[in-house]
Amino acid sequence: MKIAVLTSGGDAPGMNACVRAVVRSAINYGCEAYGVYDGYKGLVEGKIKQLDRYDVGQILNRGGTILGSSRLESFKQREVRQIAVDNLKALGIDNLVCIGGDGTFRGAMALNEMGINCIGIPGTIDNDIASTEFTIGFFTALDTAIDAIDKLRDTSFSHRRCTVVEVMGRNCGDLSIFSGIACGAEIVITKDTGYNEVDLLKQVQNAKALGKRHLIVVVAENITNVFDLAKKIQDNSDYEARATVLGYIQRGGKPSSFDRILASKMGVHAVDLLMEGIGGQAIFTKSLDVSHIDLDKSLTVEIKPSDLYQYLKKLN
Ligand code: ADP
Repeated sequence: MKIAVLTSGGDAPGMNACVRAVVRSAINYGCEAYGVYDGYKGLVEGKIKQLDRYDVGQILNRGGTILGSSRLESFKQREVRQIAVDNLKALGIDNLVCIGGDGTFRGAMALNEMGINCIGIPGTIDNDIASTEFTIGFFTALDTAIDAIDKLRDTSFSHRRCTVVEVMGRNCGDLSIFSGIACGAEIVITKDTGYNEVDLLKQVQNAKALGKRHLIVVVAENITNVFDLAKKIQDNSDYEARATVLGYIQRGGKPSSFDRILASKMGVHAVDLLMEGIGGQAIFTKSLDVSHIDLDKSLTVEIKPSDLYQYLKKLN
């Protein structure tokens, strides 16, 4: 059996760990593993290369994706996808793991309908895939955002400022609300909260009335121009205000512990499915929810993460 893997759309820390997991577990099952370079564009251009287990050595801890990524609008056209299908078939490859965001999943769905067994793995810092609680890359990007906002907080406090920070997320507010909570932001504005300038300015004035020395406002991208917003806050409150757009630094860096493990588990799971002849699936993770249990049961009732030892042997 032959299994190919690609990364597509916006890159995310942990994609490499996932590529490694797919390649290693495929090889450990006795399959041939293939890497497709530059996402769907490379698939159409025939940039497909067989990988051995050491081609994916030394990448687990690296950000970005060694396979490269791209965007190819024309992949929405059936005749363009047919070239990709023909390229895979010419090499005898029937199975493809697609790591990426919602666009990548749409591409995988379309390829699956054309006879390639596809599995989608959610890899995007935006956490905007509906069916998974977390995507690969989200927590690393969150750590980067938190680190930056903590630094802004220092100067915000010193200068008694209102700091407005734009956080990534495309159309999803998760990076904003998670970083807002983790950094003690007073105000978080996302698509979910809606944006009402009058309310926002009132909240800022209330913070001043409460005696807050400084203030952090986290705004998700694609909501409003944060530089204009900072000016409005400064003009309509007693805070000096500054805006910072965190931008692409959020996409890079070494994957966090969580993302390495999530990526490894998802990659192994994808190959397990393909080995059973199952395609047309999206991998997901669920349940970091907080709940409660009687104290007297808390040392005996097992609620533990899944057994990682079964993964370890497939990843080497
Ligand atoms: P992400 O996967 O991060 O959401 P994009 O939305 O840019 O990134 O999607 C990545 C690629 O997936 C696109 O450049 C395109 O090649 C492919 N794609 C997106 N939507 C579709 C679709 N409806 N049908 C086929 N391919 C698609």
